[in-house]
Amino acid sequence: MHKRVLIILVSATILIGLAVGAWILFTPADGPAPAPPTSEGLEFPTSAEDINWENREIFKSGLAESAVWALDELPRANTYYISLEIPQDLGSNLKGHQIVRYFNAENEDLTEIYFRLFPNFQGGQMTVSDLAVEGGATTTSYESNDTALRVDLENPLEPGESLVVEMDFTLGIPTNMGGNYGLFGYFEDVLVLDSFYPIIPAYDETGWYKQFPRQNGDLTYNDASFYIIQVEAPADLVLASSGVIVNQEIKAGIQTSLIASGPSRDFYLAGSREFVEISEQVGDTLVRVHTRPEYSVNQAYALDFGVNAIQILSEQVGPYPYTEFEIISSPMLALGMEYPGITSIVVDEFVEGVSLYGLPTEQMLESTLAHETGHMWFYNVVGNDQQNDPWVDEALVQYLTYIYYLERYGDGSGYVDSWNSRWSRVDFADIAIGMNAGNYQGQEYGAIVYGRGPLFFLELEKQYGLNMVMDAVRSYYQDNIWGIGYCEEIRAALEESCGCDLSAVFEEWVY
Ligand SMILES: [Zn+2]
Repeated sequence: MHKRVLIILVSATILIGLAVGAWILFTPADGPAPAPPTSEGLEFPTSAEDINWENREIFKSGLAESAVWALDELPRANTYYISLEIPQDLGSNLKGHQIVRYFNAENEDLTEIYFRLFPNFQGGQMTVSDLAVEGGATTTSYESNDTALRVDLENPLEPGESLVVEMDFTLGIPTNMGGNYGLFGYFEDVLVLDSFYPIIPAYDETGWYKQFPRQNGDLTYNDASFYIIQVEAPADLVLASSGVIVNQEIKAGIQTSLIASGPSRDFYLAGSREFVEISEQVGDTLVRVHTRPEYSVNQAYALDFGVNAIQILSEQVGPYPYTEFEIISSPMLALGMEYPGITSIVVDEFVEGVSLYGLPTEQMLESTLAHETGHMWFYNVVGNDQQNDPWVDEALVQYLTYIYYLERYGDGSGYVDSWNSRWSRVDFADIAIGMNAGNYQGQEYGAIVYGRGPLFFLELEKQYGLNMVMDAVRSYYQDNIWGIGYCEEIRAALEESCGCDLSAVFEEWVY
């Protein structure tokens, strides 16, 4: 996420010759369209028995060539089949059905599994019914103020074994922004569905991630999974989501869209009747920007920033894994929010010719978009415990945003000023950057994790050089691709890269 605070930015935002290809869903005027929809072999299963869990062909069209290997190399990744019905008015109850295969990838027996019901934290209402576990009776109970559903298993699930869980769920959709930054609900003309399905969270040495969310920090801590989602929605609702639409049929004013995404850390879906789209191809990836028609000027800026961020960070960290990267505008109480293959940016940044927090909106848009694009590598491909270890992605992505400015304009000093400006809000206090999100009080979270956090990487750059830091970032990425990274892995990568002991600097900044 990118929190709303004053940011001082580089002044040199020079945009010359924007090559913008106008593009309307499935009728390209310029540039390639996504894989053409075809219905062959893509019937959505009505029961678990119909599913061939080993067949991952459907995910191929969403993956860049450099990322296709993951289909064979993640045999224990979870797979979700979800069907979702979105009503004509978009704001009343949504109905869902989910079939998920979960693997015990841990080293111990599991006697229960959990599902996270985050809409119950985000001002919505989520209920689960008719839950059935393959091959056994089960009992369920709600925990953590209804944000977690515990499912007790009749027989323990041994390491390497899998089971299939099937359930119905309903979603009450908030229309007043509240909960967690307004990321879930129907606001103005945009339906935003952040973590809308029952999610199996990560299990680590402390057990299941089932805590009630802390006051700061993003919500999810998931294993990379595969998602096949069927959405029934009004035909005029323009969808934006993780993954790619692999099939779409329209009958009697209703669209049935089949979306495949994976591997990915989560699945995000949004839609608006007002969205218009422009797009541009960069390498294997089509960058698509959806917003309202009156925001066409900043929409073109967003496309340019997105294309450049994908290109620069692919070169600096590793190839972007998907064939699509989507950017949408939506009303929210943050500046932007990252999801796999898609980011939602606050709609205020799309209003041309005005200033926001004292800066022109296109400058705000550039820093927010570069930051959220950085999360495609750190949060999505390499996951982390966002509540208990937030600096692991946020501070690193702040540093990558500076790398974007450095590569694009030859100068990242304006963006570095924004970190100092954030840290100044707590009088440059020596507060550790590596605490859990709930341990920061008031302004400390933004000031420390987003301000002092990237300054830690800059300090290493000053001491050991930019190549030392970026070599470590690349090896941390490669070593943890589609896995989860922790503080120790970042430290190990840095120490290996510099060939030195970083105990003192970690003590000073992180712990
Ligand atoms: Zn962020």
